[in-house]
Order: sequence, then C-alpha cells, then structure tokens
Amino acid sequence: MISATGAYISVKNLSKKHGHLEVLRDINLEVTPGELTVLIGPSGCGKSTLLRCLNGLETLDSGSIIINGIVLEKNEKTPSLSSDFDKKARAIRENVGMVFQNFNLFPHLTLLENITKAPVVVKKMAVKEAQEKAKDLLVKVGLATHANHYPCQLSGGQQQRAAIARALAMSPKAILYDEPTSALDPGLVHEVLQVMRTLDDEGMTQIVVTHEMRFARDVADHIVHMQEGNIVEIGTPEQIFTAPKDERTRHFLRNFL
Ligand code: ADP
Ligand code: MG
Repeated sequence: MISATGAYISVKNLSKKHGHLEVLRDINLEVTPGELTVLIGPSGCGKSTLLRCLNGLETLDSGSIIINGIVLEKNEKTPSLSSDFDKKARAIRENVGMVFQNFNLFPHLTLLENITKAPVVVKKMAVKEAQEKAKDLLVKVGLATHANHYPCQLSGGQQQRAAIARALAMSPKAILYDEPTSALDPGLVHEVLQVMRTLDDEGMTQIVVTHEMRFARDVADHIVHMQEGNIVEIGTPEQIFTAPKDERTRHFLRNFL
C-alpha cells in the first residue's frame, strides 16, 4: 500500500562490525512507503543490529542508509554530539519510531506522561496539545481508560500497545519493531499484532522483526531472511512460504511448521 506520509528506506552495501566480528555484511534493502517488511532469521544473525543501524543507533563500517531523505554513511571520526553523523542520526530518530521486546516504558511515569514526554521535550509541543494527541492515541490502541495508570499496573500486551502509542506520538514516518511480541504471554500477542495491522491499513511504513509467521504471511509485503549477517533471500510471503529460492530459507522455516 502506497502512502504519501510513509518513509522511503534504502540500504546500500551496509556492513557493520563489532570488533572483529562482522555482524552485517553487504546488506541491500529497499522499502517503499507504506510497506510492512518482516525480518526473520535465527538468533544472532544481525536482525537487531540492522534495526539499530536503521534508527541511527550504530555507526556504519561501510555503505549507506537513506531514510526519509536523510543519508547516513560511514563516519570517519569517532561520533560526537556535534558530529554530522550524530545530527543526522537524531533527525532519523525523530522520524522513525522504535518499539522493543521489553516495552521500555518509563516505569515512574503514567501512560499519558510516557506518551507526551518526547513530543514536549524533543518537538517542543505545548503540553496541552501533546496530552490531547496522547489521549487520541490511547483510544487508537484500546487504552482510553488507562491514561493515568503506571506501566506496572498493565499487562504486557497493554504495555506494548502503550509503547506503540508512544512511538506514534512523534508522528513518525516509519516504525521499527524488534520482536515486539516475544516477551508476551501467547494470549496477548494478537492484540499487539492487531495494532500493527491497523497501522499497515493506514499506510504506515513498518519493519518488524518477528517469529510470528502467520502474521508475516498475512500482512507482510516483503519478508527478508537473514543468516550470519547476510540477507539470504527477500521475497513476498507467498514466494518465501511456498517456493523459497534458497535452501537455507526452506530449512529455517521448517522450525515454524
Ligand atoms: P539478532 O537480533 O538477530 O539475534 P544481533 O543483531 O543482536 O542478532 O547480534 C548479531 C551478532 O552481533 C551476535 O553475534 C551478537 O553477539 C553480536 N553483537 C550484537 N551487539 C553487539 C555489541 N554491542 N558488541 C559486540 N557484539 C555484538
Ligand atoms: Mg535481536
């Protein structure tokens, strides 16, 4: 689905090392606005690192990332607050939301405070306006009556929906999710996936690391399969699930049948 508001994401020849370990090798990926891309692959293959690179949380060893017109490239110098890289990385983080496995809500703040904090502090939005927007977002994720609750008073599914509302409060052009349902009891997975489905229907650009293969099959525009820092295969759900081109994809998916 094409959206006028979503981000275009392009990764070219991206490599990333941690010490001598090559965590990402020559990654090439294109995401058009409004697409939902699912990233699959075994533990340790580099999925989280790729998302962190896309959110400007890692420096690059080679290649480039373009998100919403902002270009990140290998940084020759050590990054510092004033570096060009860091300025661009911060601009990317203002445009791209990130949702983590363990929700990462501020435990000492209510949901309303969690959701209004970034718009007020980073975007200098008026508190009243931020609160109005936060209330609308809580309605959207089914938490209208929980504005004054603290995270510890909520189920995991509710906390994750609040974390998505918090990401949406910055009016992001894209949202990246790192195993958003992996920490949830099985009965709570569906309600979080449903929020991502709704955002997909509305044209949000999303990249989701997940092992929820039924969701991937139903909702993804493209599935990206990674192994040992490489992209092994990119395809539509139909192609990946019914006729994978790479034997490693077939082998990996066997674990989920
Ligand atoms: P995944 O999310 O697919 O499980 P990660 O991106 O977390 O994989 O990790 C990929 C590889 O990079 C793993 O071997 C991991 O141990 C290593 N790694 C990740 N982050 C760091 C780091 N900050 N320092 C050193 N090694 C790291
Ligand atoms: Mg990970």
